[in-house]
Amino acid sequence: NGNVHRAPLDASRLRLNLTDTRKTVPPPEELVFGKTYTDHMLVVYHDPVTGWSDPEIKPYGPLCIDPASSVFQYGTSCFEGMKAYLGPDGKARLFRPEQNMARLKRSAERLALPAFEEGEVLKLIKKLVTLEARWIPALKGHSLYIRPTIIGTRPSIGVHASDHSILFVIMSPTGPYFRTGAKAVSLLAINDSVRSWPGGTGGNKVATNYSPTFKPQEHAEKLGYQQVLWLLGEKITEVGAMNFFVVVQREDGDLDLITPSLDGTILPGITRQSVLALAAAHPSRSVLPGLPETVRLHAHERELTMTDLKAWSAEGRLLEAFGTGTAAIIAGIGRIGFEGKDTVLPEHESSLGPVAKALFERVTDIQEGRVEWENWGIV
Ligand code: PMP
Repeated sequence: NGNVHRAPLDASRLRLNLTDTRKTVPPPEELVFGKTYTDHMLVVYHDPVTGWSDPEIKPYGPLCIDPASSVFQYGTSCFEGMKAYLGPDGKARLFRPEQNMARLKRSAERLALPAFEEGEVLKLIKKLVTLEARWIPALKGHSLYIRPTIIGTRPSIGVHASDHSILFVIMSPTGPYFRTGAKAVSLLAINDSVRSWPGGTGGNKVATNYSPTFKPQEHAEKLGYQQVLWLLGEKITEVGAMNFFVVVQREDGDLDLITPSLDGTILPGITRQSVLALAAAHPSRSVLPGLPETVRLHAHERELTMTDLKAWSAEGRLLEAFGTGTAAIIAGIGRIGFEGKDTVLPEHESSLGPVAKALFERVTDIQEGRVEWENWGIV
């Protein structure tokens, strides 16, 4: 019908409805992840007749949603996790945000949620961050966590794609993942519950990938491990909500840096992709901090199994294991329990081995604006 005009998502139609009662920003050392939210949120509604509403930045508060909404019945929800950092120049920076937007778009498509122009969402997020800049803690390792979310709000329990949706963005100031005396994390590798499978949604950031992980996570904790290492049969996929890496000594003296390839069962992490690129640039284009130029890193994306890990460990070649993600950036792994036995990694003073530490320093230098690299930090 040529008369029907469904409006696209358009940042230039933004309406500001600002609060006159601003909250007190908690002292950085008291921040608990995900507990405090900023004064405002961004909300945009999609209706199948009129399209996307005018985006609105309004005081943070509850959403009013029909109980028959698709999201409540069928988990029609996807989201992103990104951060704004305050640089030494006092300016707010986002880290490769176009990557988050592209991933959000793919997640929404996977759930048949209404389409949108991801560049417009990024413009709105930049606006929200600028408006809330006083919430970005001005301390190293601190940031403002940004959670863009899309939920399906079709008010019908018919099993069907949701043509109604709400896209919203909330933000929470956060401290470093590991506050004091970071310790390497312990993992329980399991394959009786699986996080993702071929043809499934593991490669997308959809809500229904996460809720089924809570019970196995509790199980791991009961057995004295901190996180789950998700297997698919023998194959390693991810660790908790992070991508998995190992550093293996090669016979020629060089090091292999290995992470599972993106076969659809793995979330394409932006930290993962950044770590691979930085490792490939060392030492020819950029020497990683603290890592001698004589150390050659060979980055690989390939299949990785518990059998590989156990064999390398027995040969004394398994030097480091770590997880990568927006929350922790890089988390060192100390031991991995599987079938009743622990594979133990070499201990390092700060919980990170030399390669993990070098990558952590370089990634955080770029994120926090101390180092410029390939336009990854967006002011
Ligand atoms: N895997 C899963 C399952 C995740 O939820 C995340 C966090 N987004 C990651 C990996 C790491 O991705 P990123 O580096 O983009 O934060």
